[in-house]
Amino acid sequence: RPALVWFRDDLRLSDHPALAAAASTGRPLLCVYVLDEVSEGMRPHGGASRWWLAQSLRSLQRSLSAAGTDLVLRRGAAAAIITELAQHSSAAAVYFNDVATVPARAVVAELNDRLAALGITTHSHLGDLLAAPELIRGKDGRGPKVFTPFWKRLLALGAPPQPLAAPSQVSAAPAPASDQLDSWALQPTTPDWAGGLRDCWQPGEQGAQRALQQFLDQAIAGYASDRDRPDRDATSRLSPHLRFGEISPRQIWHAARFAAAAQPAISADVDKFLSELGWRDFCRQLLFDQPALTTQNLQTSFDRFPWRDDEAALRAWQRGLTGYPIVDAGMRELWQTGTMHNRVRMVVASFLVKHLLIDWRHGEQWFWDTLVDADPGSNPGNWQWVAGCGADAAPYFRVFNPILQGEKFDPNGDYVRRFVPELARLPAAIIHQPWTATPLELASAGVTLGKNYPAPIVDHRLGRERALAAYATVRKN
Ligand code: FAD
Repeated sequence: RPALVWFRDDLRLSDHPALAAAASTGRPLLCVYVLDEVSEGMRPHGGASRWWLAQSLRSLQRSLSAAGTDLVLRRGAAAAIITELAQHSSAAAVYFNDVATVPARAVVAELNDRLAALGITTHSHLGDLLAAPELIRGKDGRGPKVFTPFWKRLLALGAPPQPLAAPSQVSAAPAPASDQLDSWALQPTTPDWAGGLRDCWQPGEQGAQRALQQFLDQAIAGYASDRDRPDRDATSRLSPHLRFGEISPRQIWHAARFAAAAQPAISADVDKFLSELGWRDFCRQLLFDQPALTTQNLQTSFDRFPWRDDEAALRAWQRGLTGYPIVDAGMRELWQTGTMHNRVRMVVASFLVKHLLIDWRHGEQWFWDTLVDADPGSNPGNWQWVAGCGADAAPYFRVFNPILQGEKFDPNGDYVRRFVPELARLPAAIIHQPWTATPLELASAGVTLGKNYPAPIVDHRLGRERALAAYATVRKN
């Protein structure tokens, strides 16, 4: 009788505890992936994530085929589909890695009930986080609301277990009918907007391992100080690989610690990098404690915040046409490449919520649709953090100044030049505030404000004052 391995947000072969456990039984394997957008609380992928998922599944199919087995694809309610496949293949047991969200755990609870009735056992493994959320919770059953105590508790657990090797060769169970990946229409056809994504990413397990190696070889030294510089390639670019589980956080942990042991000078950089990785676990914990993280303010005092309805301003922000070069560069980077540098994510999010007074949920939704790393915990968790309504939030009254942020973190304007080519010929001294340039400077750079680049859609000082006045009403509430 075969062992059924249910692939979820873990599209890899190495350090896949469920796959390793199933393979160690010596039974033939039946490997299955279910695209479940219908079980209660499952958030359908946005456009960029769908593109990524298609590439990642293709890559997993290739790897499994090289290891001697197939990947069966099905679409629908996962508990019912896995039960049906387990029953029809006479599986002895079903193996999977835990996805620690409330809707995903509800699917597993239903699956456990269905399979128990058939006498088929289930085996759940930790594969997606540094630590199981249960290990971090306090007596009230909830996790810390602030990152630092969360991280201290996680570190106190000690290093996560060593990663597991990929099974080399497995025997395959007879495979039932599979959907064709193309029939899921995950990829854009006309217009094909994915060219920029194809140019800068290699989805799949090999791409993930390559990104990790490249980061440890070339960029980890200096990470602690350079990670805020969007004009430098100073971060790992691992987030979409982590989102789809093409690499596990504990593989990253141990590889980074190994690098630090060989090169003590980078220890502080590695510590900083691993604490950033810890934010991912932290956001998952927030999502676990507040399943409505995407729609509800963690601080309910924000429920009556006087948001503005301004379609034109929202569209200008989405298209990178606000007149603030660092904001526009970020939004265009997102549209072209499916990602945006973390520092710039904070700046554009603050600009939307504070300068434009547009509800953070509109920004979260746009990111959800356009980010290749769109994550059900990290995206709303960070949006709430920037908006000031989150658990461990940046105070609302701290309004990022997009000019100073640009000058500080993109001092030569290289990042702006890359994504806002119409400003490329402006000198560094004025590139973050082109409206202060002289007519001669603008003319010699080929810039006509209001024609080939917009004037600012809101004045920074007025926007800041308006935001603070709106915040005062929340405090009164
Ligand atoms: P590195 O600096 O190399 O960090 C390593 C890993 O740590 C990342 O891959 C990521 O998994 C994790 N990480 C780093 N910073 C954070 C953070 N603040 N929160 C959670 N995890 C973090 N990250 C997502 O993965 N998905 C999202 O949907 C997402 N939405 C965001 C929305 C906003 C408004 C903001 C401000 C941040 C958001 N982030 C999100 C966090 C962060 O911007 C990205 O994780 C980071 O830019 C990815 O680049 P990297 O892999 O090179 O990061």
